[in-house]
Amino acid sequence: MTFIQSFRLKTFLLVCLTLNGLTGAVATGGDRLPACRETIERHIRELASEKYQGRRGPFAAMAAEYIQREFQELELNPLFAGNSYLQTIPGLSEGDEPPRTLGTNVGAILPGSDPALAEEYVLIAAHHDHLGRGGGGIFHGADDNASGVAMVLEVARLLKSADPSPRRSVIFVSFDLEEHLLFGSRWFTAHPPIPLERLRLVLVADMLGRSLGDLPLNSVFLFGAEHGTGLRELLAGIDSEPNTRPLLLNSEFVGTRSDYGPFRDRQIPFLFASTGQSRDYHSIRDTADHINYQQVREITTFLREVVRHAANADSSPEWIPDPELTLDEVTTVLKIVEKIDQQADNWKLTTVQRLFVTQTRQRAKRILQQQTISPEDRRWLTRSTQMMLLTVF
Ligand SMILES: [Zn+2]
Repeated sequence: MTFIQSFRLKTFLLVCLTLNGLTGAVATGGDRLPACRETIERHIRELASEKYQGRRGPFAAMAAEYIQREFQELELNPLFAGNSYLQTIPGLSEGDEPPRTLGTNVGAILPGSDPALAEEYVLIAAHHDHLGRGGGGIFHGADDNASGVAMVLEVARLLKSADPSPRRSVIFVSFDLEEHLLFGSRWFTAHPPIPLERLRLVLVADMLGRSLGDLPLNSVFLFGAEHGTGLRELLAGIDSEPNTRPLLLNSEFVGTRSDYGPFRDRQIPFLFASTGQSRDYHSIRDTADHINYQQVREITTFLREVVRHAANADSSPEWIPDPELTLDEVTTVLKIVEKIDQQADNWKLTTVQRLFVTQTRQRAKRILQQQTISPEDRRWLTRSTQMMLLTVF
């Protein structure tokens, strides 16, 4: 760390300590300080800056180095073999040539404070790679997914300074090559630094700084609670701020959309947090100036609580192979379609798109009226929600 870096870090920490101090939390120490907006904004603006050229290939490697430096500055332990924060992802080797490096995952670990539970793990992750440059310019990927990486780094900072420290060990990972068929998380789960059967919960975040279709939803979607015992209860027990209420959705509605996929395939309980695809998704307009930093801060505080609870609870989620669809999830779908409906003219929805929206709304309403979900309702709602999300966004 250079003197300038150290000075910059301390200045930011000072800002946050001062802000946190206003809540009186610093005076008591404690493990529930709110996330720091300034720190989060610093990470997002850095990773989405010109310098990283959309974080692809060698520029994704630069992002990995940035994240590694942050883990080092936080004095977290390296996660991978050889005391390394980095896990290189090799390509196929040709002839006698050593395989070239395709990408780099970054990971750190905070050892659990309870000797009986320290060999159990909670993992929180996001991906740092993005699309690089295209015809129109740089795909900065501020929302997708500098926002998720900033959240992971800030949760790492908060948990590292928490007193008491979490009972189970907490692993922080930034995956590479998510935009390349989830290659980073696939490599990680095929070559895990700890036995995967000791992972109690995996929390993956992808896009936290905008909102689905830029709709005023004031929420964060959480997928996957249906697959783990006690996860709904865990989420319901955490306070959220009014502008970022968690909305449960079934992961079946979206299929595999991010790095939770390889963990779900191995039946490891998971949660996927996202505020959804904005109108600027995968475009050069996904820039740092369009991020709602207050929202990312609030979601970060919430997700830190999820990790803290999962790491401290006496029992852990067990995998539920064939979960029920609940009325909570139908309520979420209804909320989304009603907001889309309000935008139908603004967005110039086509007749077919309007039809999906209307049909989905009617079916969701009917299910909520009858207060029970038949297998046919479930199939219909899942299919129509998938279609609606695909055709409208
Ligand atoms: Zn993404």
